[in-house]
Amino acid sequence: MFGERLSRVRQAMETGGIDAVLLSVGPDLPWLIGYEAMPLERLTMLVVPVDKPAKLILPAFEAARVVEHPELFAIEGWGETDDPIHRVVEALGGTSRLAIGDRTWSRFLVGLQQALPASDWVAAGEVVGPIRAVKTEAEIAALQRAASGVDRIAEQLRTGQIPLIGRTEAAVSADLGQRIKDEGHAKVNFAIVASGENAASPHHHAGDKVIGPNEVVLCDFGGTTAEPEGEPGYCSDITRCVYTGEPPAEFQEAYDILQEAQAQAVSGATVGTPAEAVDAIARTRLGEADLDKWFLHRLGHGIGVEEHEDPYLVEGNTEPLVAGNAFSIEPGFYVDGKWGARIEDIVVATDDGPLALNTVGHDLAVVEA
Ligand code: ZN
Ligand code: ZN
Ligand code: ZN
Repeated sequence: MFGERLSRVRQAMETGGIDAVLLSVGPDLPWLIGYEAMPLERLTMLVVPVDKPAKLILPAFEAARVVEHPELFAIEGWGETDDPIHRVVEALGGTSRLAIGDRTWSRFLVGLQQALPASDWVAAGEVVGPIRAVKTEAEIAALQRAASGVDRIAEQLRTGQIPLIGRTEAAVSADLGQRIKDEGHAKVNFAIVASGENAASPHHHAGDKVIGPNEVVLCDFGGTTAEPEGEPGYCSDITRCVYTGEPPAEFQEAYDILQEAQAQAVSGATVGTPAEAVDAIARTRLGEADLDKWFLHRLGHGIGVEEHEDPYLVEGNTEPLVAGNAFSIEPGFYVDGKWGARIEDIVVATDDGPLALNTVGHDLAVVEA
């Protein structure tokens, strides 16, 4: 797995005229070699020259955490009084066009730029992002496992097995988080619970509000799967809405149109369709009912080892979808001071058409008040 990824990265480096890729904290490193850098002030950096063996430079006492692949990269530990920037410069050996991980701390980038004043820098996302955006069969299987786990939790929400009325949003959020872990995730990335008018805020932070009868409860949650040591986890991300009591006709009607818009966008997410055209499908359907003015965000984002990654389904992204792209389709409407709703699935573009990884019911679930 990692050997193939490294050779694809080197191919992209050759095409892009990149002499070396430098990866530190963030998801590129675990995706590429299975090791996640400690997000600390001590530098961890994988140096991947285009035509020389790669080297992982890290604090010597953290080397024991690395699952070794000597055929892919050497390991060089640095001691507490060493200068790790100097170690990286030596490993680069005079190369000059460098791609550095998007999330690398600026103190390290600034240190490297001062040590290598003649070098040219680009963000490694330009090299690695397009490769990560095309999932292998094994990656799609991992995303499916993640999706099936949160589907089961969504079903518990929809059928009233997770109590809502009388609990705070924060308590329901913690409950969802525990269930995400019980479903084979190593960590919870978020568990948004937004009830009543809080549902009008797409990234509402679950708080002290007690969920009452006769409100919408929007739940958007996901985590990263637990994998054997030295292998990266993959993310889940789902949104479903539950109404605590009989929904008002106005809300039900808007929700039904949202459900149609979401389903149409899923069906339209075919190989070759520009990403922005899929966004437009949902926006057009919502617009027919004058709901598009409440659809405040892009339709979706790619997903993999990271919750949000390429490709983004947004106006302006004319890149056509390719087989293996995995992304969310999550239209919503958000009416300030009143209510909101969103429906989100993870979908994979395949040569046989769009494959929705989340299959739990999409209609507005109603639990008794
Ligand atoms: Zn979001
Ligand atoms: Zn989500
Ligand atoms: Zn999402």
